[in-house]
Amino acid sequence: MTERAGLYVHVPFCLTRCGYCDFNTYAGLDHLAGRYVESLRAEARLTSPEWSGATFVSMFLGGGTPTTMPSKTIAGLIAHLRESFALEPTAEVTSEANPDTVDEPYLVGLLEAGVTRLSMGVQSFDPVVLDSLERIHSPQSARAAFTAARAAGPSDVNLDLIYGAHGESLDSWQRTLDEAIAMGPEHLSCYALTIEPATPLGRKVAAGLVPPPDPDLQAEMYDLTCSALGAAGYEHYEVSNWAKPGHRCVHNLGYWDGRPYLGLGAGAHSFRDARRWWNVRPPQEYLELVASGQLPTGGEEHLTDEERGLERLLLGLRTADGVPKEWLDPARADRFVADGLAVSRNGHVALTDRGMLLANELTLSL
Ligand code: SF4
Repeated sequence: MTERAGLYVHVPFCLTRCGYCDFNTYAGLDHLAGRYVESLRAEARLTSPEWSGATFVSMFLGGGTPTTMPSKTIAGLIAHLRESFALEPTAEVTSEANPDTVDEPYLVGLLEAGVTRLSMGVQSFDPVVLDSLERIHSPQSARAAFTAARAAGPSDVNLDLIYGAHGESLDSWQRTLDEAIAMGPEHLSCYALTIEPATPLGRKVAAGLVPPPDPDLQAEMYDLTCSALGAAGYEHYEVSNWAKPGHRCVHNLGYWDGRPYLGLGAGAHSFRDARRWWNVRPPQEYLELVASGQLPTGGEEHLTDEERGLERLLLGLRTADGVPKEWLDPARADRFVADGLAVSRNGHVALTDRGMLLANELTLSL
């Protein structure tokens, strides 16, 4: 049977760095963009023979901010990747987008390039919260970007939102949700803010300059999210993801279902047949390795059957489809159900909204 896989392309450029972000991204390196895209093409040529047996059902341009690059550059890259890999004609092709980097003509160019799904980093419609997160865009530019996406043509639109930043009240989060629902995107990703120590925000929290997120308030915000999005017709299909029926993200489902994926670009991760490997993180080092004709692999690990089974269990439990009941200790599964943390249906055990809130603790207990 042909392997069904996902293709991830990492673009490590951003206009500025947001204070909470620990992704492999850089501001001020845009002058490398031309060489970087050439390297992505070269890496695709180097690695495509190994993936000739796979059919790619999704492509995800993430980062970073892919939309710091001209839409023509992205179009050329997608065309090259389609030549290098067997991408299904109807594959989902997502591009992340920062509201300040897109307008209607730009988005028309992306859709013509074959992008079928836009994922916009909106985070909040409250300027106080955007300021606290050190986002450079305003609520107005997020609204304008969404309007431009709708005017550009048919595509699924996801809005990324974050709750629990310093200065955000339950009322503010409610207003952000209300506005997002009124816009009617097909998909919403709502993440609880987490503090990563090696970020500017992490250092401010460690120095006592900013309080850490209040877990009780974040739990209330999560409850509000579940009820508001549920009432608006969104299915809660993963801990932090909600979609209108038929609009779940194919690419991310691949990660949670344990399907193979290939990552191209600086720091990108790949997974296939119990092997996980990753590229070197610094863009300069990535460029040099690829330019010398080498695969830019920075490290790898091989999962044992037991590790792989545990990972599938942990990822599966994060989704609304859950996991086959026999993957769990029966007494523990029954206790989750009795405590209202999970439901049992069609031979599967799936976490409830309340269970998903505790997903990390529950999976740790396993
Ligand atoms: S725009 Fe996204 S990727 Fe770039 S710094 Fe901000 S959070 Fe990180």
